[in-house]
Amino acid sequence: MIADSPQGLYCPAGAFHLDPLLPVERAVVTHAHGDHARAGSASYLCTPETGALLRRRLLGAPVETLRYGERRRIGDVTVSLHPAGHMLGSAQVRIEGPAGVWVVSGDYKREADPTCAPFEPLPCDVFVSEATYALPLFRWDDPAAVASEIVAWWQGNPGKTSVLFCYALGKAQRLLAEIGRITDRPVWVHGMIEPFAQVYRECGVRLAETRHVGDERGLAHARPPGQDEQLDRAGPHALRGAGSPPTRRGAEPRSSRSSRSPPAAPKTRHAMATQEASKPSPTSSARPTCR
Ligand SMILES: [Zn+2]
Repeated sequence: MIADSPQGLYCPAGAFHLDPLLPVERAVVTHAHGDHARAGSASYLCTPETGALLRRRLLGAPVETLRYGERRRIGDVTVSLHPAGHMLGSAQVRIEGPAGVWVVSGDYKREADPTCAPFEPLPCDVFVSEATYALPLFRWDDPAAVASEIVAWWQGNPGKTSVLFCYALGKAQRLLAEIGRITDRPVWVHGMIEPFAQVYRECGVRLAETRHVGDERGLAHARPPGQDEQLDRAGPHALRGAGSPPTRRGAEPRSSRSSRSPPAAPKTRHAMATQEASKPSPTSSARPTCR
């Protein structure tokens, strides 16, 4: 039902590619991240939420949408999209045809996320799975605990701009949603983040109040160090990455994670960022962990 091709996964019976690597005639796209939704294809089929994001990311892209659970006949197969729990609009692709039911997961996660519909288990004959950090030995910190830690770090930086690095689409909005559950304080965001935040709000996702990065002091979401001239205007600031990397189960106690593999552990970075807050170069800060 699905074969590999130079452009990526291909369904011959439906004549479409899944998250193609190169421009194709018909792309079925699982979600709006740049490593899955690439420019140049003649048509895109995705969820309405992903479509709204793609119209911002890929200006002028011809986008068709399919709601979760809606079925569409394409060639000799029937395609439907189902929640993947990864980010707003993210979908597994279910393909039903002569060879049975195949499901292509796209990026997915099974833990709760306030910015998207929860992962839906789908009975199928073949499951094609993404597998980043999929080994059971990886464990992630509780998102609410990470958000509380970020807010505590922010409140511990009086008189400074607390700068949080993260990807502009998905991670930033998830952080805004988690932070908005804890505090009413506004967050200043990089210009790449706000347009996507607007789409999230239009889709009914509640986010922390945002303002464009300026001279004010507070918590700011920014692009990775070295890419962000806006930091030059931030004045004294403290830096950190958005999230913690997964812990390797059994490799070390969770209370002493400062030596984990990169990206670096936030607590180590807290101290470094606070001590170095008056220095203009942000090059030592942590990087985000995933898209
Ligand atoms: Zn993704």
